[in-house]
Amino acid sequence: MPRYINQESIRGWDQNKIGSARVWIKFSQQSQIAKNFLVGSMAMGLGQNSNGSLELSEELNSYEWEIINEYKGKIEINSQPINEYDLFVELTNDPFSKYKLKSESYQYQYFISCSANSKKLSMLIFSKNLTEKEKFEKDFENYLELIDKEFCGKEQNNIISLICAGIALDCANYLIQKKPNLENILRYDFEFPEIKTKFENKKVLLLGAGGIGTFIAKALLDCGGVEKLVISDFDEVEDRNLNRQIFYASEGSFKSGKKAEILAEKLNKFANKKFAEPSISVFDPNSEKNNYDAIFCAVDTFIARVVANEYALSRKIPLITTGCNPESAVSLMWVCGKTPCLREASSYYKTMVQNCAGDDKNKTAIEFYKQNYGQRPNSCANSPDPQIVTTNMLAGSLAVIQFGLLDDFKGKLPYRYNYQILENGKLNLDECLCWKNEDEASPCKCYEGENWLNKQIKEIEVLLSPKNSEN
Ligand SMILES: [Zn+2]
Repeated sequence: MPRYINQESIRGWDQNKIGSARVWIKFSQQSQIAKNFLVGSMAMGLGQNSNGSLELSEELNSYEWEIINEYKGKIEINSQPINEYDLFVELTNDPFSKYKLKSESYQYQYFISCSANSKKLSMLIFSKNLTEKEKFEKDFENYLELIDKEFCGKEQNNIISLICAGIALDCANYLIQKKPNLENILRYDFEFPEIKTKFENKKVLLLGAGGIGTFIAKALLDCGGVEKLVISDFDEVEDRNLNRQIFYASEGSFKSGKKAEILAEKLNKFANKKFAEPSISVFDPNSEKNNYDAIFCAVDTFIARVVANEYALSRKIPLITTGCNPESAVSLMWVCGKTPCLREASSYYKTMVQNCAGDDKNKTAIEFYKQNYGQRPNSCANSPDPQIVTTNMLAGSLAVIQFGLLDDFKGKLPYRYNYQILENGKLNLDECLCWKNEDEASPCKCYEGENWLNKQIKEIEVLLSPKNSEN
């Protein structure tokens, strides 16, 4: 099926295992994690084969995603689990629900249990074949205590739930495809700083309405939206995008057209106000009239990041760059005047800028770019980097958390989040440094110098134009 082409090209990926999985999802109507987990599962194709199933503990009302309509008839509602499942996913903040999970633990292969509150998420992963039973009992008791103390009765915050769902689904995918022997229970607790930035009076530019871009948009919507969100993308929706770009669908009114237009229309519908607007022409920094408060760069090409960086410098505004592959997600916030910028971060960037800014260089930046990064910068058709929904979800939501920290940003290093699932199923989710030596990093003054972009923009426009892309 074209929807899965992109993830099927991942080495070792077995779509049949994903499709044949039998999953039972326990949640309550207040569970924000469940909504995100469900939409992501559907995009990935979890349980969608005739011998697979996605069964829910109750009906998920008022969640109007086209993808749910596509799945109609493939989801069953069973208030109690009745079959043997590959995976039991428990997404409540209720200690009693979790306690029951343990008593049923002999019946099912793997278990994922998650909770979220306004700044924390907690997650437990185990299998029925754990070898160290005593440790399991003790760890489970500790977990229940934590849930009782910090999560019970608390609301599942939208954006923490989006992150939690992304991690849970990534783990579900890992468990179903790799079928690991887990010796011990795995427990993860992640805490995020409080979001103090007021989103509602911010004007934001989003470059790219693809995998990460759609989740940046969703996370901004989940945080209440911004005053103005301009979505710049000239691509059209294709079937192979649908395994991760959850705002688009293969049937119904959001089937075909420009991504930016569909995304903006849908965001405005969900928010019940007009805050998103599409821009389907090539992003031209020199003619941009809006005064943005920040730029999110969710276009996974080097040239787009260069353009975004130079634009951010010329306007002295922060830039949030994102990236992901099937195993990891990263998001960085560069704050003009407070941190270095992309020019200092990448040796490629330096060479590229030097090559075009120097006096007697024969190579232009564009030639350098072509030699080093392939002919077409702007399409995944030529370089079909495999992508899955989970890490796109995480890169997008982590980027928005970072944006929420902007108003009280005090660091001198770019703020960075990094997520990774390791070979043994263990997770990393950290804030980490991009400079090995903290002393080497200091705020740069690139915004005072000559804007490289002004010299090169004509060529960049040509490179980024739809004519050069097969999409
Ligand atoms: Zn700089």
